[in-house]
Amino acid sequence: MSENFNIAEEYKSIVQNLPPTVQLTVVSKTQSAEKIKEIYNQGQRIFGENKVQELAEKLPLLPDDIQWHLIGHLQTNKVKYIAEFIDTIQSVDSEKLLIEIDRQAEKFSRKIKVLLQVRIAAEETKFGLEISEVKELFQEYLSGKFPNVEISGLMGMATFTDDENQIRQEFSFLKQLFDQLSKLQPLTTLSMGMSDDYQTAIECGSTSVRIGSAIFGARN
Ligand SMILES: *Cc1c(COP(=O)(O)O)cnc(C)c1O
Repeated sequence: MSENFNIAEEYKSIVQNLPPTVQLTVVSKTQSAEKIKEIYNQGQRIFGENKVQELAEKLPLLPDDIQWHLIGHLQTNKVKYIAEFIDTIQSVDSEKLLIEIDRQAEKFSRKIKVLLQVRIAAEETKFGLEISEVKELFQEYLSGKFPNVEISGLMGMATFTDDENQIRQEFSFLKQLFDQLSKLQPLTTLSMGMSDDYQTAIECGSTSVRIGSAIFGARN
């Protein structure tokens, strides 16, 4: 059995078991254009990368109708390299970054969809906004501060742990915040859940999961 056969099968079994309302971002970081194409050929159009350089290298090798999502920490000075084509930036973790995305979107006469990344994990290392910052940014957005950006929801990563209760608490917390903000203006996307915890995330209200290694195998 070839490895390519395997990744298509893994992909199909995951898709078949996802609720139809849950969006799948296939996380293709570190994967070759050939492997991405293999999943594309199964019908997948949304792919997520975490590095601008890597994304820029793969872009010309792959079909135009892929909707690229940036899912990793983005430096302000790199927004200009992706602003023309990126579908969604899932990892907005500072006001400075949001200001720059808005500025670059205007340059390219488009609106860029973003998610605000919220720090829900106990670990210090994870990027993300504090709850108070999320609320402030969303208020500014509602008052018209970022006209070239569409905040379509929130993204969060749970603590890397075997403690399912803790993961569940963190996801439920993010879901509560999502519901709170949605009362001010409806949001569509609650991006939470990766290979190891996406089923828990869906039980907690995720509408969008980001899955890499469960499809491609463990990364090097
Ligand atoms: C790498 C990554 C994923 C996918 O992780 P897997 O465990 O391989 O599914 C999801 N989200 C973010 C932000 C990532 O960096």
